[in-house]
Amino acid sequence: MTAPNNRGQGQPPDDLVSEGHTDWRPATALVHGGTERSPWGETSEALFLTSGYVYASAEEAEARFKGEAPGYVYSRYANPTVSMFEARMCRLEGAEAARGTASGMAAVAAALLCDIAPGDHVVAARALFSSCRYILETLLPRFGIGVTLVDGRNLDAWKDAIGPQTRAVFLESPSNPTLELVDIAAVAELAGATGARLIVDNVFATPMLQRPLTLGADVVIYSATKHIDGQGRCLGGIVLSDGEFIEKKVHDYLKHTGPALSPFNAWVLLKGLETLPLRIERQSESAAALADFLAEAPAVARVIYPGRDDHPQAALARRQMAAGGALLAFELKAGKAAAFRLLNALRVIKISNNLGDAKSLITHPATTTHQSMSEAARAELGIGPGLLRLSVGLEDVDDLKADLEQALQHAAGSP
Ligand SMILES: *Cc1c(COP(=O)(O)O)cnc(C)c1O
Repeated sequence: MTAPNNRGQGQPPDDLVSEGHTDWRPATALVHGGTERSPWGETSEALFLTSGYVYASAEEAEARFKGEAPGYVYSRYANPTVSMFEARMCRLEGAEAARGTASGMAAVAAALLCDIAPGDHVVAARALFSSCRYILETLLPRFGIGVTLVDGRNLDAWKDAIGPQTRAVFLESPSNPTLELVDIAAVAELAGATGARLIVDNVFATPMLQRPLTLGADVVIYSATKHIDGQGRCLGGIVLSDGEFIEKKVHDYLKHTGPALSPFNAWVLLKGLETLPLRIERQSESAAALADFLAEAPAVARVIYPGRDDHPQAALARRQMAAGGALLAFELKAGKAAAFRLLNALRVIKISNNLGDAKSLITHPATTTHQSMSEAARAELGIGPGLLRLSVGLEDVDDLKADLEQALQHAAGSP
């Protein structure tokens, strides 16, 4: 690992040994990448649960603050356990640099706010996680930043919206909850032509199934709360990009505004990364099987899953994703009442608006995550009263199938 030395904390002390071979494949990098061992030679990543650092002398403190000597200064700026998480994510994503954040939303806010000024313009897909829409629709305009939301599936709409004032382009693919895709390479080309920075929220695809940086994106953000933790334990986020943007813009913004990732959470996330490939492979396989099962159910009007041939953008899914992912959506013909009957009858699958857990979680977006939207805005996104979003976990797929089967019978009104 090459630690940046202009972060206000310098490089790790010499007695921490770096783990980092450039030719590792992802599964290996996710177990070993970025590990910095302390003099004790611990096997597992050390948890540096400390807010500050001590100096051997006043001269050393001065040198560290000047960035002339290696070592950490304060955990709001950087922390060894957080640095290990960042380094491991960089290896996986193929990014030059990264910063961990307290949550996924802190990562989105940092990526959008750290390098923008009144008069600038942002273009974003309208199908977004609802808090991302708050930043774009409510927060940015308050500071004189113009925002245009487009149908992310329509390349002409992107072309029309991106202009010389456009500073940033933001999208999520697949989107929450209707799993719409955006052609990342095509939008990257449009953004690149005017010098706008393309920021991709890659939470639904996970770093295992889609690599936005190799498709031409400039910045990737994650809510690590989801599949990266993978067991529903803690909040976290990360922004990954080139060294210049991260060290100069993102770092200063985070350092001075304070949404630092807790070292404890970074440690949990490091352990989560070790099993990420196995979990995503299994969860994506199970999701594909459940999507096929639901597509045959008479009560189901439609199934939305990027791994199925009947997804409206199936060809694009094959081009930019390695598999369909761990999330699917389906719509019941009989609307909200049937959806609620199904939810209330489930025994294994839990009702929760969270996602990316080992436990399968299901939510009714119209009455929960997208409740605050107008009905017209929901309709525009295809979020009808019968729509359910399922985050597939690690249970035996046959138990999940049986659970859905009995719940579908309840939804149909039969006991
Ligand atoms: C959950 C989520 C976020 C926000 O992440 P938090 O960790 O909850 O702050 C952003 N984007 C997407 C797509 C998400 O699923």
